[in-house]
Amino acid sequence: MPNYARLPVTFVKGEGAWLWDDQGIRYLDAVGGIAVCCLGHTHHAITSAICDQAKHLIHTSNLYQISLQQELAEKLVQLSGMETAFFCNSGAEANEAAIKIARLYGHSRGVAEPTIVVTEGAFHGRTLATLTATGNPKIRDGFEPLVPGFLRVPYNNVTAIADLAEQHPEIVAVLVEPITGEGGVVIPNHDYLIKLRSLCDRHNWLLMLDEIQTGMGRTGKWFAYQHAGTHPEVLTLAKGLGNGLPIGACLARGKVADIFKPGKHGSTFGGNPLACRVALTVIKTIESDDLLPRVLELEQRFVQGFSKTLAGLKGVVAIRIKGLMIGIELDRSCGQLASKALQKQLLINVTAERVIRLLPPFILSDAQADSIIAIVSHLVKEYLSLPAPHQ
Ligand SMILES: *Cc1c(COP(=O)(O)O)cnc(C)c1O
Repeated sequence: MPNYARLPVTFVKGEGAWLWDDQGIRYLDAVGGIAVCCLGHTHHAITSAICDQAKHLIHTSNLYQISLQQELAEKLVQLSGMETAFFCNSGAEANEAAIKIARLYGHSRGVAEPTIVVTEGAFHGRTLATLTATGNPKIRDGFEPLVPGFLRVPYNNVTAIADLAEQHPEIVAVLVEPITGEGGVVIPNHDYLIKLRSLCDRHNWLLMLDEIQTGMGRTGKWFAYQHAGTHPEVLTLAKGLGNGLPIGACLARGKVADIFKPGKHGSTFGGNPLACRVALTVIKTIESDDLLPRVLELEQRFVQGFSKTLAGLKGVVAIRIKGLMIGIELDRSCGQLASKALQKQLLINVTAERVIRLLPPFILSDAQADSIIAIVSHLVKEYLSLPAPHQ
């Protein structure tokens, strides 16, 4: 189906931050499969975990005990301070679980039509409920009737949510990204999550964080909310969790930790031995190779590099960097920069029309970081010197 506008390149091999196409040309990958391949391509620990587990057992179903799933749940709970885990196969599914938790929670409080507050600029997935929760109208248009039970407010604005409270006693939860991903790497005020936390406490709402893109070390801590020192009741993960093997998770805590009783939710594939073995290996590798401090080191390198080359340039609206989530916002749409970068053997992404987004792997070398900075800066300067395209 023609639902993707793909670039004209086919990759056949990868190693670390490098990819090779079917012509043998080598590319530097600063997209990482959209924040998925944190450990780069064909990492030896991941490859051997997949091969070894495939020799033992791939799938049985959730009709039975799965010890690797148990082990992964315990590890994630320990890293996050959450209490329980449900496993699925994608980010959208993780958010579907969160939405169902919010509704069950609402009904348990006697709310007939439980409603979730979501934000503009948010991206939560492509299923009907998660596209309804998504801020971008282009993602929603044409799929009406949308799912009821959502209210939208501007991002990074706590007052807008507080103002809804009185008129909307049906609100039961707030669902936000700690930093928007597809929305353009928008980093909210440092106290945004803390203020949301106390607002949720005051009204008995669930704070539900979508860390599908920001989680698993992407911002230099395991989860982005750990920078704020606060805690959600529901946390969703996917992308980096499996380094390319599909797996998603919805973690819960406190009054909703055990709200899914037997039969209330499920997934055939979710949390199978292969996916869980790989996710455990991802976590162990990030730990044993000290990759969280490395992400922060690389953050500094990108901050310094781009502030030397691009900061203050006319046409560069903002440079936003947290860990290895990098957004460079221009004053004009710049989707074509992705194919221009491809011609220079670099993979970059453009999101929210005007934001160059880089999500390189944590195993990036200093030299690779410097090449990304050099090529992107060159492309941006060249692009901005052209007459501005019609908006
Ligand atoms: C990618 C993403 C999703 C959707 O994940 P899929 O695996 O594509 O369903 C949801 N939320 C955020 C923040 C994302 O970045």
